[in-house]
Amino acid sequence: MNELLPWLASTFADLQQRRAQGRLAHALLLTGPAGVGKYQLAELFAQSLLCAEPQADGQPCGQCHSCSLYTAETHPDLYRLRPEEDSRVIRIDQIRALIQGMSLSSHYGRHKVVILNPADAMNMAAANALLKTLEEPPADTVLLLITDRPSFLPATIRSRCQTLRLALPARDEAQAWLVAQLANPQEAAVLLALAGGAPLAARDLADEQLARRQELLRGWQQLASGKADPVKLAAEWVKPTLQLPITWIYGWVADMIRLRSGGDGGLTNEDAVVTLQNLAQELDLTRLYGLLDRVLEAIKLANSQVNPQTLMEGILLYWSNLPRNTMTGQAKQQ
Ligand SMILES: [Zn+2]
Repeated sequence: MNELLPWLASTFADLQQRRAQGRLAHALLLTGPAGVGKYQLAELFAQSLLCAEPQADGQPCGQCHSCSLYTAETHPDLYRLRPEEDSRVIRIDQIRALIQGMSLSSHYGRHKVVILNPADAMNMAAANALLKTLEEPPADTVLLLITDRPSFLPATIRSRCQTLRLALPARDEAQAWLVAQLANPQEAAVLLALAGGAPLAARDLADEQLARRQELLRGWQQLASGKADPVKLAAEWVKPTLQLPITWIYGWVADMIRLRSGGDGGLTNEDAVVTLQNLAQELDLTRLYGLLDRVLEAIKLANSQVNPQTLMEGILLYWSNLPRNTMTGQAKQQ
């Protein structure tokens, strides 16, 4: 399902207006930073061009025969060109096959749409082959070229396209959207900063970081039972930045406090309830609050000149040295 990303809504509306007025360029070059949503916009616009009954705002209906074909990725009037497997290059034979396909008339009497992503992956021969099509495009054809790096495209290609530069949303807008996408919404600000403000890149980063978060939680457990060295772990955890790990630690500690207080609702780490419950029940609530204060202090200092490793060591040493109620631990083992 294609989603109209809120910060691209005005660009989409503008495209629809041009289309309604018959001013749509036959070749559009979508540029802008990685993770802004260029490909998503191209896909949504392509579907809307193919849809038999688009909605009033131009968005595809999602119901018609064309939309079904689109969703099944079998629409005969939609061509997606990308580097083939094991290759980083879009080659001339792919462009030739495309040109041959485009020379046929549209199967459904509407547009034929080409999505070329990333357009800068075309080698010189491929770009030259496409040039002729850009100069004399077949009727009702719309080519959508996508790139983060327009300067890597030959000037001859760029000059034959209408450039549409997509801008990153304001931070508040990006964060509001990201919060709704994440399993752990409190990571939104950090992920967005790490992704340079690009919301989709931030969402991808959250997926990539999932395994690491689990690995760090294992380390956190080992520290509690004296099976890991806090100084050694701290050195690993601050690479490449301590921002995410410290956000995770904050989430674990806040959840341990909720669990120790007898609550189980509103947890950040639903996937780690048992682990956190076991860790929390060995500790006094007061000590957990003391730990939370330290973590908050470190988060505040994280953007200052203080050495990140010193900050992380402080937290991990404090955590591993907390007096634990081993009776509870023994009772659990029996
Ligand atoms: Zn439709």
